[in-house]
Amino acid sequence: MSSSTVVTNIAALVTNDPSLGDGSPLGLIQDAAVVIDGDRVAWTGESSKAPATDKRIDAAGRAVLPGFVDSHSHLVFAGDRTQEFNARMSGRSYTAGGIRTTVAATRAASDGELEANLTHYLAEALRQGTTTFETKSGYGLTVEDESRALRIAARHTDEVTYLGAHIVPPDHAHDPAAYVALVTGEMLDACVPHARWIDVFCEKGAFDGDQARAILTAGQAKGLHPRIHANQLSYGPGVQLAVELDAASADHCTHLTDADVDALANSRTVATLLPGAEFSTRAEWPDARRLLDAGATVALSTDCNPGSSFTSSVPFCIALAVRDMRMTPDEAVWSATAGGAVALRRTDIGRLTPGAYADLILLDAPSHVHLAYRPGVPLVSGVWRRGQRML
Ligand SMILES: [Zn+2]
Repeated sequence: MSSSTVVTNIAALVTNDPSLGDGSPLGLIQDAAVVIDGDRVAWTGESSKAPATDKRIDAAGRAVLPGFVDSHSHLVFAGDRTQEFNARMSGRSYTAGGIRTTVAATRAASDGELEANLTHYLAEALRQGTTTFETKSGYGLTVEDESRALRIAARHTDEVTYLGAHIVPPDHAHDPAAYVALVTGEMLDACVPHARWIDVFCEKGAFDGDQARAILTAGQAKGLHPRIHANQLSYGPGVQLAVELDAASADHCTHLTDADVDALANSRTVATLLPGAEFSTRAEWPDARRLLDAGATVALSTDCNPGSSFTSSVPFCIALAVRDMRMTPDEAVWSATAGGAVALRRTDIGRLTPGAYADLILLDAPSHVHLAYRPGVPLVSGVWRRGQRML
């Protein structure tokens, strides 16, 4: 038996349904209420019109929005890269090679250690309002270590991504073609049962366009859907390949030609921006304004990983996107909720409308704008996931 709860007296409710409220993409309703029934949203609208329910929660004039959809993270890992970060912040530039440090630590860790680490960062993310997360393998880079990473991740989320093609591991450095054959062969077969997505780090020093195409199409042939790390550190073929293969998302998108922007704007492929990476590597910001003005769909995500972006905080990414990437607060909040859902090709999350999962957060603030207006302040004061109060 499910019971119904109304959260009422909400000063500003973000529904992400443009047919509601102010008619903006956020579908913002003032003086609003949400009814939760079981694990779903049953009703949204003005407080005065809310239907009768079993329980009532008074939001006391605070803001409610959909839980954050963090569509890009790397949380199955072990070890620590404090020294690398410290060195980089003291003047050295980031290259893809730092991943090897985490690969060595991850291979050496037990299953229990990896899962404990994962659940630690998931709890941290939940406290900051993340109710859905995607996470990837990519620190094992052997058949056994990649498949166990995905097996562990799949116990905690449906959005699991096979990233055997993160880098060419040192043991294959002499023969990258043999590693691509492994990633598209035996390793793929071992990973398919645990994953929904396949990803590749398409970048100088990682995998080139031809290798990325071979890897993603091999995954597609086995039923995985592509997403891609594209155009992060340099211009390259990743974004065009993403669009050509109907990837759900091209992630990073920091170095884009006009043709890349046009391709994204005329496709279903979401541009997922990960400002924690630029922050943590002191790199040039992706140009969110250019993508939005061209008509591309933009998602915001953490890229949480121990090397290049060790933050699990979506609110922090929202603040960066507004301050440094010229997104409006409304756009940044949409991209971190509905945008993340589009990047995962999900319609049951990232919005607060009847039938969606009851994943919502209560801010200790009267407006979602405070997420950017009050950077670094822990504003998330309530979290419901699938209708369950988690915080
Ligand atoms: Zn990443």
